[in-house]
Amino acid sequence: MLTNALLACLDALLPKRCAACDSPALSGPLCEACAGSLIPGDEGACPQCGALDLERDGRAPDGHCGPCIQRPPAFSRARGAYAYGGAMADAIRRWKTRPEPTLTPTMCELILHGRWERGDQERPTLLVMVPPDPKRLRQRGFHPAGLLARAMGEHLSLPLDPRAVRTARGYPSSRGQGRDARRERLRGAFKVCRDRVQGARLLLIDDVMTTGATVETISRLCLRAGASSVEVAVLARAPR
Ligand SMILES: [Zn+2]
Ligand SMILES: [Zn+2]
Repeated sequence: MLTNALLACLDALLPKRCAACDSPALSGPLCEACAGSLIPGDEGACPQCGALDLERDGRAPDGHCGPCIQRPPAFSRARGAYAYGGAMADAIRRWKTRPEPTLTPTMCELILHGRWERGDQERPTLLVMVPPDPKRLRQRGFHPAGLLARAMGEHLSLPLDPRAVRTARGYPSSRGQGRDARRERLRGAFKVCRDRVQGARLLLIDDVMTTGATVETISRLCLRAGASSVEVAVLARAPR
């Protein structure tokens, strides 16, 4: 079996392949067709939760979606660098099921394409990340959100505290569950270190945001622990 180090060497020597479909990629992390199919995460998104797939009907005049009006999230803003689906979903799936060194630089490059820079006054002061599911971490040998968070920290010149949010017990598997069911399972799954987040404007990083139940749970805990605000940045925002 090839080791991760050997795969990384091969990856550096071989011509670049598209992270989504494996065709030759001449410039950038994806081939021309896949790159052209990506949807930026801020186009027409709800200004609070970043949802992209909602009809304009039922939105407030400022663009907030129905669910945000009815039950505002704890985080002030969530954004994906891109919408989840098509080539982006393929690339993320490959990344999370292949050895880490081959696709990590590509995925880090893609999250940095998001429009993250903010005015000085509201600029986050500390990066935190959704902690790993210990079982998946053992299987994969890497934590996608952690690698993205490290890249974002360098890009935005912000400190990253990987220990501020931790898994309190076995991270609950939440695949294929509705929003309320996921929320129920997530209760008690995380711990936030008060000393590390107090007074900070947090930017919480994850790879994919689907229902938003995970980032919502962590945002609430961070605010309760004294953080002054929480924003969320993900590589890809999935339709609800
Ligand atoms: Zn492609
Ligand atoms: Zn919304």
